[in-house]
Amino acid sequence: MKHIFIFITVILLTLIPQINHIYANNGVIQVDGLNIRSGPGTDYSVIGQANSEQVFTVLEQTDGWVNISGNGLSGWVAAQYISVLEESDYRVAVSSTEVMVREQNTSTSDIVKQVTKGTALEVLKKSGSWYEVKLPTGETGWIASWHVTNGDNIEETIQVTFHSVPIRKSASNDDEIIGFGEKGDSYLVRNKTGQWYEIEYNDEIGYIHKHSVQNPLEKKENILPLQHKTIVIDPGHGGDDPGTFGVSGTAEKDVVLKTATLLQKKLHQLGATTILTRTDDRFISLNPRIGTAKLVNADLFISLHYNSAPEFPSARGIHTYYYYSQYKELAQYVQEELIKETSLRDRGALQESYFVIRENKQPSLLLELGFLSNATEEELVQSSTYQHQITDGITNGLVKYFRH
Ligand SMILES: [Zn+2]
Repeated sequence: MKHIFIFITVILLTLIPQINHIYANNGVIQVDGLNIRSGPGTDYSVIGQANSEQVFTVLEQTDGWVNISGNGLSGWVAAQYISVLEESDYRVAVSSTEVMVREQNTSTSDIVKQVTKGTALEVLKKSGSWYEVKLPTGETGWIASWHVTNGDNIEETIQVTFHSVPIRKSASNDDEIIGFGEKGDSYLVRNKTGQWYEIEYNDEIGYIHKHSVQNPLEKKENILPLQHKTIVIDPGHGGDDPGTFGVSGTAEKDVVLKTATLLQKKLHQLGATTILTRTDDRFISLNPRIGTAKLVNADLFISLHYNSAPEFPSARGIHTYYYYSQYKELAQYVQEELIKETSLRDRGALQESYFVIRENKQPSLLLELGFLSNATEEELVQSSTYQHQITDGITNGLVKYFRH
């Protein structure tokens, strides 16, 4: 009997993680001056504010409220002002012809809406054999699990967004038109080729252009703010080149690697492809560093450093450097967000002729993220709080830059 119990527990445990991942998401704030409260409701006190395009970790979601953490703050914001990005991508699609989505997880509960086969639903929660789901229209409700399929079996549907959209015989604008789709018509996707969806149309195979339809399954992907961006992160120095040393002996090469690794994780979560010029303590000369950026045709090369001015032990603060004037705005966004996060002295976004930004064929920046020659800053920059603040700052600056 005990063995059966363990066996069942093991099965259950293998099924659960997929669901538990749902809340390990990022959320992007949609408005400026959004109140962060100590609890899920307007009765709770305001403990801080968030601004447009700031990114937070989503801890929990309840009716109308989202529990967030990040940027040195933790609390609740109203759900309509934050766009939650799904990390787990957990979705199901309706597999029966017509199904009711209900207010509660029982078949006698009131109906929220009737959904048809192929409709994509976002899973918010699972309870017994019921899913709490979000409809493409934004409404939420419960659906019985036997009426949906998940994972790779999802049947994708597209919806025509214009009037009289031509459906063609092959995936080409030059080929014969076999009919027209009308605004609001839905089709089941059979296949995708380049910019075209292959669909079934009046018992024939037809092709419809991506720009004429919307696909509820792909909508979420496009929302990731750094999707399709390739970013090369360059932890300065390494190996025989330790960079600068702090007053109590901290080596620059070690701190930048820590920063780079954390930054990579954050950029990756927002959809970016990231490459580090070094992932361990090794010497790399400057040419191969910028060579990496060229090789992958990077949208951005970002070199990380910590500063030193032993002759001025009180010197402190953060610099962002650019070389080509077209990257001045990029430098300003990053510098501004770095200062906002850390409250360190703002030494500005400045033009400077450093090799890795001057010889770079890709957009590039060099950051000096604090002074190791200043005893207070040397200690500060090594704290995990500070590492989170600067990587959040860089991330927020880049999101802003790529959005504008
Ligand atoms: Zn350096």
